[in-house]
Amino acid sequence: RLDARDRLDARDRLETIFADVVRRNPGEAEFHQAVREVLDSVVPALTRHPEYADAKIIERICEPERQIIFRVPWEDDRGEVHINRGFRVEFNSALGPYKGGLRFHPSVYLGIVKFLGFEQLFKNALTGMPIGGGKGGSDFDPKGRSDREVMRFCQSFMTELYRHIGEYTDVPAGDIGVGGREIGYLFGQYKRVTNRYESGVLTGKGLTYGGAQVRREATGYGTVFFAEEMLRVTGDSFEGKRVVVSGSGNVAIYAIEKVRQLGGTVVACSDSSGYVHDDKGIDLDLLKDLKEVRRARIDEYVTHRRHASFVAGRSVWEVPCEVALPSATQNEIGAAEAAALIDGGCTIVVEGANMPTRPDAVRAFAEAGVRFGPGKAANAGGVAASALEMQQNASRDSWTFAHSEQRLREIMSDIHARCHTTAEEYGMPGNYVAGANIDGFRRVAEAMLAHGLI
Ligand code: GLU
Repeated sequence: RLDARDRLDARDRLETIFADVVRRNPGEAEFHQAVREVLDSVVPALTRHPEYADAKIIERICEPERQIIFRVPWEDDRGEVHINRGFRVEFNSALGPYKGGLRFHPSVYLGIVKFLGFEQLFKNALTGMPIGGGKGGSDFDPKGRSDREVMRFCQSFMTELYRHIGEYTDVPAGDIGVGGREIGYLFGQYKRVTNRYESGVLTGKGLTYGGAQVRREATGYGTVFFAEEMLRVTGDSFEGKRVVVSGSGNVAIYAIEKVRQLGGTVVACSDSSGYVHDDKGIDLDLLKDLKEVRRARIDEYVTHRRHASFVAGRSVWEVPCEVALPSATQNEIGAAEAAALIDGGCTIVVEGANMPTRPDAVRAFAEAGVRFGPGKAANAGGVAASALEMQQNASRDSWTFAHSEQRLREIMSDIHARCHTTAEEYGMPGNYVAGANIDGFRRVAEAMLAHGLI
């Protein structure tokens, strides 16, 4: 039985820990936000497990094991020299080698990498697979850069990063701005500077050189599988649903593909310039051609599909829908966007991106009875498929598409069940945030306790 006083004590302690995190990591708003959310949810777990407090598990979890910051010099096609900053935050290796993507985007700074690494740690734990948490990236902006410029940047980035990673140490993958092309260049340079064909050092590789089936589709498919499980709990499905997906990158594209296969209609998606609204359902072949092949802006969609409309500079959440899959980037849904979604009849929000929903919007959804699936559970399919890729690389095997998709589906259904059961066990039925945070946290905490004070 949980004692009210124990809960208060745990809360007080967490306030002190949080104040300390803010003081030690000044100006890193996204990291503070991610830590706050987890600390708020794990109070009941701490009350049940006094041994976590004695071993200062939370304090240790909030401090990354290692943070690497490095210079990345490179030359553009005109011969001009540029200097970017590279990062790798090796957050926690209690459950396995550090694992998590690299993000190339001008907004990247240490606070973004830390928030992503922190989220990754619990997400990876939730998958039940042997992977720790890490994240990296650079403030390099790939937009408008030629293939050769991107290649030179990736080569320079890896010329420093290679000494910190390895299949048993730290295994990067993609994230925003890092897809198959970049992973190829990064892998080529790793192989060259180390003289090792170490397939398991990176995931998201191409199918011709050690990549795994379904890795590319996994984050988007997995998010939709998770949403499908949430719908199933209330006897519902995607059949006939109006869906809005934000973004039009790797997560969004494959979320749209899976929604369509399950009988839903995605009526809008977006990029940083605005959104496209197509009531007949987003044309996926066209979207893939624009975004994966030609790397074009989304407004071009309407020059090929005259019945659709492009709305510049506004939020895609003003389009009414029943299911919302935010799959662009962090903090894209605030109070105003949440209100628009609620007004538009949305009943379920499932995060394909990492932390796209601000805390006030999460509260608004809860008050309005909108069901909410947090990214660290819902988008875990990407990293789970990465763990399957590592497994195939280690055994020099490769699985079929059908088998890999089946594994992904099982993993998402297990993650859903864990969140659901844990939330019930702790007296918060239907609270997927609490379920995900408590289950992920407990897995990391138990392994850390077993390893002693390190
Ligand atoms: N960047 C993805 C994520 O946010 C995937 C990471 C990986 O595959 O290692 O989970």
